[in-house]
Amino acid sequence: MALARVKLADSPSARFDAEILMAHVLESTRSFLYANPELEPPNPRSEAFKKLVKQRALGQPIAYLTESSEFWSLPLKVNPSVLIPRPDTERLVEAALSKIPVEADWRIADLGTGSGAIALAVASERKKCEIHATDISSEAIEVARENARSLGLDHIQFYCGSWSAPLKGKFHLVLSNPPYIDGNDQHLEKGDLRFEPRGALTPGQDGLRAINEISHLARNMLVDGGWLMFEHGWDQGPATRQILQDAGFTDIETQQDLQNHDRVTVGVFNVSSDSGVPVNPYQQQ
Ligand code: GLN
Repeated sequence: MALARVKLADSPSARFDAEILMAHVLESTRSFLYANPELEPPNPRSEAFKKLVKQRALGQPIAYLTESSEFWSLPLKVNPSVLIPRPDTERLVEAALSKIPVEADWRIADLGTGSGAIALAVASERKKCEIHATDISSEAIEVARENARSLGLDHIQFYCGSWSAPLKGKFHLVLSNPPYIDGNDQHLEKGDLRFEPRGALTPGQDGLRAINEISHLARNMLVDGGWLMFEHGWDQGPATRQILQDAGFTDIETQQDLQNHDRVTVGVFNVSSDSGVPVNPYQQQ
């Protein structure tokens, strides 16, 4: 363990990392390690531990090494085909739950579901809703299905395909945490982001591209009065509100994350006040 901490010295959480990895190879918990400080793992587990420490020293996120994460207090499997769920994304779940009545039997779509985190969190709180979640990555859908199975949440359907393409019928709520980081953003080359699926982080050069595309698709998905809700970057609040407004949404509002940054924007689709098909600048290119 001590050696592992030295190897991980570049990580600000070296001790914590070493303990988590040791607990993982022992299929145990950190508190068990504290109760048994002299414990050394037998081979081949000690080899497995050394390998994980090496990968961590190269920057691999702990969540990928242990294939586990937590979101909305739900234990989730993650691997490099899905984003590691962020605490800020719980704001999107809260925004959704604040609109879905407890006993509602809404049809809800989660576009770009990844590990299924958002869809599963909403499903865990709204048992009567019918939730449909898509992802372009078949590996991601496999992870999301496994998470739904292990959490025993069977009122979600997962589909492999682009945004709304696999979905039929109308929805009361469309949710998405789409890729929104500008393709030139230096953060993509730093920390955990280097190891996460690029397509889940950035839609390419223009960070707003997916938000724009989904806003236009959502017009054909929502019932009259249905909600569209996005997670977006801390500096994308005004632009996201503008996109929703241009796409004919009303009652547009932005909510802040734990650091008080703009993070979630919501809007309502009103068939009655809709004045026709707006121009989608992205379809003209
Ligand atoms: N919130 C993530 C980050 O900034 C990005 C997730 C996303 O693009 N949807 O690291």
